[in-house]
Amino acid sequence: MKKVALVTGGAGFLGSHLCEKLIASDISVIAMDNLLTGSMTNIEHLIGNENFKFVKHDVTEFIHVPGRVDYILHFASPASPIDYLKLPIQTLKVGSLGTHKALGLAKEKGARFLIASTSEVYGDPEIHPQKEDYWGNVNPVGPRGVYDEAKRFAEAMTMGYHRFHNVDTRIVRIFNTYGPRMRLNDGRALPAFVSQALSGEDITVFGDGSQTRSFCYVDDLIDGIYKLLMSNETEPVNIGNPNEITIKQFAEEVIRITGTTSTIIYKDLPQDDPKVRQPDITRARTILNWEPKVDREEGLNRTIDNFKTRI
Ligand code: UDP
Repeated sequence: MKKVALVTGGAGFLGSHLCEKLIASDISVIAMDNLLTGSMTNIEHLIGNENFKFVKHDVTEFIHVPGRVDYILHFASPASPIDYLKLPIQTLKVGSLGTHKALGLAKEKGARFLIASTSEVYGDPEIHPQKEDYWGNVNPVGPRGVYDEAKRFAEAMTMGYHRFHNVDTRIVRIFNTYGPRMRLNDGRALPAFVSQALSGEDITVFGDGSQTRSFCYVDDLIDGIYKLLMSNETEPVNIGNPNEITIKQFAEEVIRITGTTSTIIYKDLPQDDPKVRQPDITRARTILNWEPKVDREEGLNRTIDNFKTRI
């Protein structure tokens, strides 16, 4: 009998790539999504596959899934700064109530549970690069607090179910990720810069662009998450690409690779925007034997090709 995985947020950017990876690994997938930020176009190529089923449901409400479930991967959540500014209550609810419901189902089914956490649990970090044992520097009442605290709560809830109910759990802390199917207008730097470059608009760098990020190509990220799911590691694991770049350099890179005539304009830096971010991936390297393989130039080219078909 094939194993069965439930992917919440299965119609999202990461969720849809994860569904593909699980199906390719001979696991049947139930994708669950309320389509608030996810989209059926991300999974339409999977509809009709006998190992794939889609259920439209809001996971902050009781989740009922008939039959066996071996893995639950909780990926439902708005995940870009613009999204969680627009959807603060939904973001808090899916990280708290949604995680509770998904863990309750995992307990009921005896399923392994993996929570998609985030580098945002480190907030505006005072330790660089960020290791998993760093507790973070988060402003609970700032605009990003709704996401950061929801994910911190989700991690705490996951460990609560692990320790008290013996649920078999995994925590992945996902750093900035990009690739095909990323929403063009989710407000993040990468889709913004690529869309602006391809349509000849100004490239909007926030602040002076000296803040840094480290971008991981989606295939690498999904590979790391799958390895974590199949490992025995119950402590949080950073998955991301440690290759760090300033946002200004990144904008210049997008301009060079696309060959656009667009130029950079500067806008206000959003409140609490982290000044630096780079994953320390020693734990993933050691325990999962994982590290990213796709460099930014190649990943960007693949992403730009995908964006061209959608703009
Ligand atoms: N950013 C930018 N221009 C944009 C969108 C974002 O300069 O049009 C900056 C943003 O202020 C942040 C970095 O790019 O410093 C990465 O932002 P993103 O929204 O991708 O995600 P974050 O890493 O902040 O969660």
